[in-house]
Amino acid sequence: MKTGKLSPKPIIIVSKCLTFAACRYNGLMINSETVEVLKKHVDFIPVCPEVEIGLGIPRQPIRITKEKDTVRLVQPSAGLDVTKIMHDFSRKYLDGIKESDGFLLKSRSPSCGVKDVKFYAGPEQNVPLGKAQGFFGKAVLERFPEAAIEDEARLENFSIREHFFTKLFTLADLRRVAASGQMKELVSFHSRNKYLLMAYSQAKLKVLGNIVANQENKDFPGIVSEYKAEFSSALSHAPKHTSHINALMHTLGYFSEKISSGEKQYFLDSLQDYRNGKLPLSVPQSLIRSWIVRFNEAYLKDQTFFRPYPQELTEIADSGKGRKY
Ligand code: SF4
Repeated sequence: MKTGKLSPKPIIIVSKCLTFAACRYNGLMINSETVEVLKKHVDFIPVCPEVEIGLGIPRQPIRITKEKDTVRLVQPSAGLDVTKIMHDFSRKYLDGIKESDGFLLKSRSPSCGVKDVKFYAGPEQNVPLGKAQGFFGKAVLERFPEAAIEDEARLENFSIREHFFTKLFTLADLRRVAASGQMKELVSFHSRNKYLLMAYSQAKLKVLGNIVANQENKDFPGIVSEYKAEFSSALSHAPKHTSHINALMHTLGYFSEKISSGEKQYFLDSLQDYRNGKLPLSVPQSLIRSWIVRFNEAYLKDQTFFRPYPQELTEIADSGKGRKY
């Protein structure tokens, strides 16, 4: 199924130790099936903040400490405080990024982690006080609030992965639209994403429709940047089952007079199984897709809702941990 004009590959900044270099504190690299499969479909820009600030490979581990209100990044064994140098590196590196659609960062790292990073009461304390963001990960979240940002370990879960890929590939397409400078491209983008947005947020679908209508006759750069902020916010959380079902029921409306009552019932049963967590979303979506082809339904044919990212990425094995469709 086509998804509009050819989009550029998404650009992702990635933690270098995720298959790109053996740069972890222990001199090892992390293998990741997701990153390997993604390599064909995205442009990765690997970075290792700890190596960039001059810590060698291998190196003694660093950690986050919080004493009173002061948060530091330290290397206890060397008595080193790398808080400022890591802050400075993060700011300079992120300021230098011209284009990016997302970030894929190593989980639980005191530098790269975006959540679930242990912090301690002091350099020598062994019991963690709680969980925080890593220094570089935090800077990414603050500097690129509209990007698709995820922690590599969470991508083992199918629904988190599906949401991350969806946001990543639609943002890359939106980057192409912004570069085109043409309002008609934005109108077409909005139209192609109608059912995807309906599944994510009906309220945002309306807000975005108003932006595209451009009643105040604003210039294109202003419109597209307003649109991107709202679009990214619409895709800030994975959609609920019920919203997906709502979008699917709307698309069923295109065929309800054309299919048999048996076919319709089969679809409704599969929707019920999806609601109960017995089937993945792709099953009822595939049924609608088959009718799009059979009845040559032009408008639905280009809807990203049915395939927001390359098919190969749907075939990555799931860890089964916390799986929910
Ligand atoms: S988690 Fe980040 S800082 Fe640590 S080795 Fe990987 S890329 Fe380097």
